[in-house]
Amino acid sequence: MDYISTRGRSAAASFSHIALDGLAPDAGLYVPREYPQVSAEELRRWRGLPYAALAFEILRKFAPELPAPALKTLLDDAYNAPVFGSDEVTPVHTLERGVHLLRLSHGPTLAFKDIAMQWLGRLFEHLLAPQDRELTILGATSGDTGSAAEHALRGRRGLRVFMLSPHGRMSPFQRAQMYSLHDANIVNLAVDGSFDDCQALVKTLSADLGFRQRMQLGAVNSINWARLAAQVVYYFKAWLAVTTGDSEPVSFAVPSGNFGNVCAGHVARCMGLPIHRLIVATNENDVLDEFFRTGRYRPRTTARETSSPSMDISRASNLERFVFDLVGRDAERLRALWARLASEGEIDLSREACWAEASRFGFVSGASTHADRLQTIRALWRRHGIEIDPHTADGVHVGLQHREPGVPLVCLETALPVKFEATMVEALGRPPMRPAGFDGLESLPQRFTRIANDAEALRRLMLDHTARG
Ligand SMILES: *Cc1c(COP(=O)(O)O)cnc(C)c1O
Repeated sequence: MDYISTRGRSAAASFSHIALDGLAPDAGLYVPREYPQVSAEELRRWRGLPYAALAFEILRKFAPELPAPALKTLLDDAYNAPVFGSDEVTPVHTLERGVHLLRLSHGPTLAFKDIAMQWLGRLFEHLLAPQDRELTILGATSGDTGSAAEHALRGRRGLRVFMLSPHGRMSPFQRAQMYSLHDANIVNLAVDGSFDDCQALVKTLSADLGFRQRMQLGAVNSINWARLAAQVVYYFKAWLAVTTGDSEPVSFAVPSGNFGNVCAGHVARCMGLPIHRLIVATNENDVLDEFFRTGRYRPRTTARETSSPSMDISRASNLERFVFDLVGRDAERLRALWARLASEGEIDLSREACWAEASRFGFVSGASTHADRLQTIRALWRRHGIEIDPHTADGVHVGLQHREPGVPLVCLETALPVKFEATMVEALGRPPMRPAGFDGLESLPQRFTRIANDAEALRRLMLDHTARG
């Protein structure tokens, strides 16, 4: 099993190599040369496996060079009740006959990003230790990625985290989750700018190969394949939970921003999991909805601020992985398309021959508004007595519109409501429930450094900080 770049100009590499590297040197994204396949026989055998054991079966296909006992230890250590609240890790909650909620937000920071991040942190440490190497993580967050990454990497040997967040734009709860960490290897930087500005800073510094080498930069956003691979597991887990027979189709509704989560669903489907539809749900930032409806991909210059802020994304990095498959894994073609995207600001795949067959990948899409979000939160509370957060609500809203008779619909829960109190108060007239262990979080002392939206200043700060040890 080796990994190739979507742009076709990087050498093939092993899982251990690309896990530490993130982006390929030719600026493409790594994908496996071929998707490993899962047989009906295997699916049958996997029924009833605990989460960590299922993760082992799937991840060993993606990382065959990791010694099995080491992989098993990493996964047993990450996926258990103390870390994720239950042995199931990602329990399925049935709302009504044929409609289910896949609960992904019971990890340390109450968002689905914990699932991949808890494994990534342990994996990094495992890969770095024998090489006596250090890795610097430079990331950008609108809230959930940053806290999930910091909680997974805090205190880990050989790892240092610089996390950029847009100053004043996160919820008080999200801010406290990050800024209340005081570990020496965690550096919180509040940028005077938007999330897009933060992402642009990361891109600028990562594009500087000299700096990347000198700082040993790694990535924790969903361009990192190791993260995506870990997310594939819960699609299998959910499918096994809601089916009894061998090839029963199931549809998944996924609140989407950077196209990471739903891309993992695409990978699961390509591996042979009987997924009927992958329902891409966006908020008012509907770049992905437009793409799947029309074939036109038009990243916006800025994202609109909405009440599902973790989906306020104007450019969906992981879409490149899907388009690579769509064009028949033709790297030349992909590179030509991305060159046009860079020069013209948009591409129109409806003019390509491959678009006629796009439906075979099972994607459909829809967008949700603030009003839809509030209405869905209220409806689920009234009908099912369950509180869902604004992002999950976007997924449920769009998912129900695409519900088909006889096909179970699994809606992915991506965060818990307590992270987005203001919108929950607007929807329900009262603050959301707070899980045990999070009382008083917002009043803990906070530590962060405010910086200008300036790549040069950031570069100096990172070099200084690292020189000081
Ligand atoms: C990150 C995030 C999303 C978007 O997921 P992508 O993988 O970027 O598509 C949706 N909801 C929540 C709560 C998130 O944190």
